[in-house]
Amino acid sequence: MLSVVLPAYNEEKMIQKAAGTIGGILQKEAIDYEIIFVDDGSKDGTWQQIEQTQKEDQHVNGVRFSRNFGKESAMMAGLENAGGDCVVVMDCDLQHPPETIVEMYRLWQQGYEVVEGVKRTRGKENVFHKLSAGLFYKLISKAVKIDMSRASDFKLMDRRAVEALLAMPERNAFFRALSSWIGFRTTSVEFDVQEREIGESKWSTKSLIRYAISNIVSFSSAPMTLVTITGILGFLFAVILGIQTLVNYFSGHAVEGFTTVILIILIMGSLILMGLGVIGYYIAKIYEEVKCRPRYIVSRKVGAGMTWEKRR
Ligand code: UDP
Ligand code: MG
Repeated sequence: MLSVVLPAYNEEKMIQKAAGTIGGILQKEAIDYEIIFVDDGSKDGTWQQIEQTQKEDQHVNGVRFSRNFGKESAMMAGLENAGGDCVVVMDCDLQHPPETIVEMYRLWQQGYEVVEGVKRTRGKENVFHKLSAGLFYKLISKAVKIDMSRASDFKLMDRRAVEALLAMPERNAFFRALSSWIGFRTTSVEFDVQEREIGESKWSTKSLIRYAISNIVSFSSAPMTLVTITGILGFLFAVILGIQTLVNYFSGHAVEGFTTVILIILIMGSLILMGLGVIGYYIAKIYEEVKCRPRYIVSRKVGAGMTWEKRR
């Protein structure tokens, strides 16, 4: 059986449509499936829609969070509640074309354990978004040693891969990168990001920046390396400057240069503060992990809720 996980935040108009479209395609291909909606603490009628859809369609299951925990948590909850032999994760705004699921499923049947959905084009985005996303993915790609520039959250995973992912204790899961990090027999399919028909994107510039920083910090220590290198360069500079000053002193030239002193104090001061800030981010992450709070809190469930455990 195939489980389809759909995180949903304020998507009331999409629930029925998503269940219908995906169901239609999978039934036509005679693929046994279940759909798991994860309502990420929506403020509109998303949960009512999920309950309604579940009544009409036995394939549908729903999990509701007590508040908005974010898409990463919603995807994890979906994986935890999926009972399928393989699980597809996709956006419920249908920007990930449902026809691609079939393609992924066939590849899984051929023995692939992770099928990554790769964006052929990045869809409509503004220049700032394009540039910052480029930089972000460069850093992340370095950290996981895999090209992530066209990666998406649209993917199929075999039960073994899902279990490996769920076994990871970290709170700050970055699904897109973790699914490559776990390894397994992997392939990819290309897809075109569709236009969003109804509703709007949940991402503001601020939330994207927060998302980027949080994931870079939890996946890579490159910023720390950068600070260290800057420190070393600063030290070398200081040594050279010191030698020059000594030479000047002994050759009898009076040392002047108020400006230089102020500049150096300012530069060093700000570098130190920046370094402290970077360390601060890592400490905050450690603090978050050490607290061991759950990734999310479930307030309601509908549907058979067949987890893998129960099915066995
Ligand atoms: N989403 C979520 N929790 C959030 C934000 C988004 O579950 O806090 C879901 C949303 O309902 C959608 C998917 O994540 O199914 C992608 O969100 P969106 O379409 O806003 O992002 P974009 O496609 O613009 O990158
Ligand atoms: Mg979208």
